[in-house]
Amino acid sequence: MPEAALTTPLLEQYAAVKSQYPGHLVLFRVGDFFETFGDDAKLLAREVDVVLTARAPDTRGERTPMAGVPHHAVETYLGRLVQRGYKVALCDQVEDARFAKGLVRREVTRVVTPGTVVEDRILGGPDNSFLAAVTLGADGAGAYSAVDVTTGEWYHGATDGPGVEGAVAALAPFQPREVLWAAAGAEAARRLAAALRHEFPRARLEAAPPPLADGELPAAFEPAAEPLSAETDRRLAAYVRATQPRLLPHLAARRESAVRRLVLDPKTLRHLEIVRPMNPDDPKGATLLSAWDETVTASGRRTLAFWLANPLADPAAVESRLDAVAWLVDQGAGLDELRGRIHGVADLARIATRVAGRRVRPPELGALRAGVERLGLVAAELRRSPPPPLLGEVVARLEPPGALRELLSTSLVDVLPATEDAGPVFRTGHDPDVDRQRTVETLALGELEELERREQAASGIRTLKVGYNQVFGYYFEVTRPNLARVPPHFRRRQTVAQAERFTSDALEDVERRILEAREALRLSEAARWERFLAAVDAYVGVVHRVARALGELDALATFAHLAASRGYVRPTVDASDHLVARDLRHPTLERSLGAEFVPNDVELDGTGSRLLVLTGPNMSGKSTYMRAVGLLVVLAQAGSYVPARFARVGVVSHLFTRMGFTDEIGRGKSSFMVEMSEVAEILRVADARSLVLLDEVGRGTSTFDGLAIAWATLRHLHDTTRARAMLATHYHQLTELVSGLSGARNAHLAALEGPDGIVFLHRLVPGSTDRSYGIHVAKLAGVPEPVLREAERLLRELEARGVGLPPPTRRRAKSPKYTQAILLADGAADALVEELRSLDVDALSPAEAHAKLTSLGRRARRRSEEPP
Ligand code: ADP
Ligand code: MG
Repeated sequence: MPEAALTTPLLEQYAAVKSQYPGHLVLFRVGDFFETFGDDAKLLAREVDVVLTARAPDTRGERTPMAGVPHHAVETYLGRLVQRGYKVALCDQVEDARFAKGLVRREVTRVVTPGTVVEDRILGGPDNSFLAAVTLGADGAGAYSAVDVTTGEWYHGATDGPGVEGAVAALAPFQPREVLWAAAGAEAARRLAAALRHEFPRARLEAAPPPLADGELPAAFEPAAEPLSAETDRRLAAYVRATQPRLLPHLAARRESAVRRLVLDPKTLRHLEIVRPMNPDDPKGATLLSAWDETVTASGRRTLAFWLANPLADPAAVESRLDAVAWLVDQGAGLDELRGRIHGVADLARIATRVAGRRVRPPELGALRAGVERLGLVAAELRRSPPPPLLGEVVARLEPPGALRELLSTSLVDVLPATEDAGPVFRTGHDPDVDRQRTVETLALGELEELERREQAASGIRTLKVGYNQVFGYYFEVTRPNLARVPPHFRRRQTVAQAERFTSDALEDVERRILEAREALRLSEAARWERFLAAVDAYVGVVHRVARALGELDALATFAHLAASRGYVRPTVDASDHLVARDLRHPTLERSLGAEFVPNDVELDGTGSRLLVLTGPNMSGKSTYMRAVGLLVVLAQAGSYVPARFARVGVVSHLFTRMGFTDEIGRGKSSFMVEMSEVAEILRVADARSLVLLDEVGRGTSTFDGLAIAWATLRHLHDTTRARAMLATHYHQLTELVSGLSGARNAHLAALEGPDGIVFLHRLVPGSTDRSYGIHVAKLAGVPEPVLREAERLLRELEARGVGLPPPTRRRAKSPKYTQAILLADGAADALVEELRSLDVDALSPAEAHAKLTSLGRRARRRSEEPP
């Protein structure tokens, strides 16, 4: 039996659509459901938890699996599918099933992909939704383009360095929902796709489509000068054209080259938990963004998230952002008023995009009108007291065009219906055609009332009335007791319980005119709606620009609000190589610990102490300290005030942090291999403008090779890279190397050992410690007593035998090492003495000397209050 006979015409139609949309999940409208068949049905049932059924057995007795979702709930399911990274083609019935001869005609009416959706319900929140393309050329150079079709932002440029790493690093700050990739050569393409899959496990990946040719590009599309960048733009444009053709012209005109930024590679973004928590199972975990997000608008939140993931690297640009923040701080109550005024302005960018995509609803146009009016007032208000240059420029872009305000306020009624056919959308007088048809309808309805009165009078039936139903249209209704008086020109149409219903020539005539007027009205209303959207469409680009300005204003005002309400200070960001902070706090941990958080100082510069080796017991606060330093740089260069009493940041161009390797182990690589490839990457890429924060280098292997590698890394960073760096280690042997390096210092986080165990002071002290207190930590964690006793015995034995690696070139340690004995005697006091001893008084400015003395005095007092 031929294969075709096995399937029904419906399944054949489905298979034909499916073959036209390879890689799509095709949702196929059958009656009130969108159905899928075969493997797609199994997939749908699994992914969105709907029932898997099967069609009736075919001639071979096989039952095709089938699963579907009700058509009225399809948006909800689309949202879930898209979040899981599927690309869906919605195939709808395009003719009325009642009039279809044979099979109903069906066509794909919508393609929904993770990176191109515009509906709020599918987007699931105000955050940016980036679609990205990345291309690697034959020489390993790369280019990327990233567009948020919902807001009109389009960034493009070269990747952050050669090869796959550079490509992934360039895309990381965008956290794209969908990535299109292309590379010269099959092997390079395979490696690129694998790296993208590894880095963006939730994103949808696809080989990039061929670039659009000149003739296919929208008129406004200026090709990028750099060929690879131009190609990447054109590939991205091709995909947007295939999925959201109406949006492309609005997007292509305003592409931006990313400004010089502080490069935060994917691991750094993750380890510092800037916009996403490190633990993907805890999506509500604290991040820098969640601690900073007191924005009051959707575009403000997007801008803040973007600024935190893409801090600036040009001191002048940072300072002008800080100037704007400072000016807003100075407004005092005026700042609160400003935030109050922009609060509640709708997500204008996305409304504009839905206008462009013709998926907008009348109430959203009402929100656009309200937002545009409000922003006009806000801009006028801000201009009254001249703001600093950057803010002035934001305010200039914030002002919506008067013509748009005019268009919206004169056309739309005050209270808009939920959908365009649920009631009048436009004011009377907006369109004479529509008004005339409405008059015709009103007149005809008047005639209907008149007719009712006439027939009442003529027949003498006072209860005779005109009614309407779906099946029979208009009718006269006469109750049973009055039936005898029904006039002869009435024709019977329907009998109901207590009455009979009639029509007449005159009634049919009025009815016809009412229905005609209504149909004409419906058509011209629909045409007017289309015309109106086309008129608003001309402003889509402008509204995107206005919304961006609003986002920037909100983000700046949020920085100012946090500075004022949380007592943060303005950092100095300059071209120096200093990295100095007094009483620095970790921005998110401080928020949960409050006053219990112990602030610490930071003191790095390009010469005397550019490299700090941190020792200290587990749990003493090493990782927290290093993260606080990394976050200080991120915040300062993003233009925010910082949680410290004083901060000066010599601008950093590339921030590397490697903190433990837990997440990578989770991704199935041997931790030592991962660690080494990361160290290798840092040593290759970092330069004197970098800040390198390494936590627990060499941990993933046995003591000796780990130590040797940590040692060599340290030397290379110090002698060759000359980056500012901090390195936390449990190899106390490393601290001896430090004394032979002119630009390196030791420090540790102090702990006190008392009768009840150890107390972590979380306080940074100069010099090293060789105690890891591992056994104490094990005890705290509840390891059973016999195991602890055995561990202690072993430790004593090992210490007695002097296990460890002697330094390759023995040098006398210049500063005394901290030992347990010192800590036990009076660790705190000795630490203070040591700090005083190591103080280079001549190198301090009077202000710094004052600050140092204040801090030492306070710490001495605090210690004397502590229980012994
Ligand atoms: P380490 O890296 O030395 O093992 P962590 O930095 O992970 O230690 O810190 C361990 C815990 O100690 C943190 O989870 C936090 O609760 C606390 N902690 C660290 N630093 C501080 C601090 N400066 N002030 C108060 N508590 C701190
Ligand atoms: Mg740690």
